[in-house]
Amino acid sequence: MARVFNFSAGPAVLPEEVLNRAREEMLDWHGSGMSVMEMSHRGKEFIAIAEKAEADLRELMQIPANYKVLFLQGGASAQFAMVPLNLLRGKKSADYINTGEWSKKAIKEAKKFGGVNVAATSEATSFTTVPPQATWKLDPDAAYLHYTPNETIGGLEFNFVPATGNVPLVADLSSTILSRPVDVTKYGLIYAGAQKNIGPAGLTIVIVREDLLGGAAAGTPSMFDYKIHADNGSMYNTPPTYAWYIAGLVFEWLKAKGGLQGMAAINERKARKLYDYIDSTGGFYKNPVEKASRSWMNVPFTLKDAALDEEFLKGTKGAGLVQLKGHRSVGGMRASIYNAMPEAGIDALVTYMKDFLQKKG
Ligand SMILES: *Cc1c(COP(=O)(O)O)cnc(C)c1O
Repeated sequence: MARVFNFSAGPAVLPEEVLNRAREEMLDWHGSGMSVMEMSHRGKEFIAIAEKAEADLRELMQIPANYKVLFLQGGASAQFAMVPLNLLRGKKSADYINTGEWSKKAIKEAKKFGGVNVAATSEATSFTTVPPQATWKLDPDAAYLHYTPNETIGGLEFNFVPATGNVPLVADLSSTILSRPVDVTKYGLIYAGAQKNIGPAGLTIVIVREDLLGGAAAGTPSMFDYKIHADNGSMYNTPPTYAWYIAGLVFEWLKAKGGLQGMAAINERKARKLYDYIDSTGGFYKNPVEKASRSWMNVPFTLKDAALDEEFLKGTKGAGLVQLKGHRSVGGMRASIYNAMPEAGIDALVTYMKDFLQKKG
């Protein structure tokens, strides 16, 4: 059986070691005689799995004790609503930074629940830049500031953490969580859908400072109230048990790789290799994002002549490279190179791109 190099933006590649371990444990987890999929979420086996996963995530991200870690469902998209429902806490509005497609969706959803002040936008550069913080029109009385540290579609990544004073900082970290160390203490709330850089789809992780719990708007459904999930250890209802288990295996894998410091070094090297090659082709391949804000995780690129796109993609299959077609809203190509993409995948992609250029350039 041949594994391909899978550049999908999400659901995305998982570490082969994790998949093998899951296979070994599939029918009988640690002598329980059951698959994790078959276990009660309230049984001692699953509780052990859940607690280990949380402890490992806390260790990896150095999450302080005054933060809750929630294992939820609904994807990052449900967080677009949960954040304003829980964090507006009677305030008139929240600040949002608009740096692309996912920011726009978060803004659109938040408008259903309260006022939104778009404090900065990089729409004028087609979302190829991060607006410098000095230009932001922040509201000192905002309920929170929301931003998207890594725009998965545009391939735009913040290289700084916004300074917001006493206003809680909220981040949609879906496509860059665990790719490098983050100072959790700078955030009020972090959320991430699992299917980019954590594990299988169906799990959403929320890291929230305790003092922000308990202020949900009247009429908030129980399933959308962080405090209810926090008070019940993410088991108010049945959590996504199998996805939680796989995420736990990924956390163990990350620890063995040297933690987030170790991953950051690998990720930076992988991304640099690909961007350096793209930049060396005299415009045959092109990434539109300002250099200082290029994503380590999602690398969109176009070919000089879009008429070559189809042929480029056709040839990738034979080279064992899949899911390189760009997002439908952008066109061109996109290589998502999350933690689990081995460096050999970057090498194979660059080799293919070189061969293609030789033939068509
Ligand atoms: C994928 C993604 C989302 C949407 O995630 P769902 O889990 O499909 O709701 C939101 N924000 C970012 C940054 C993403 O990459």
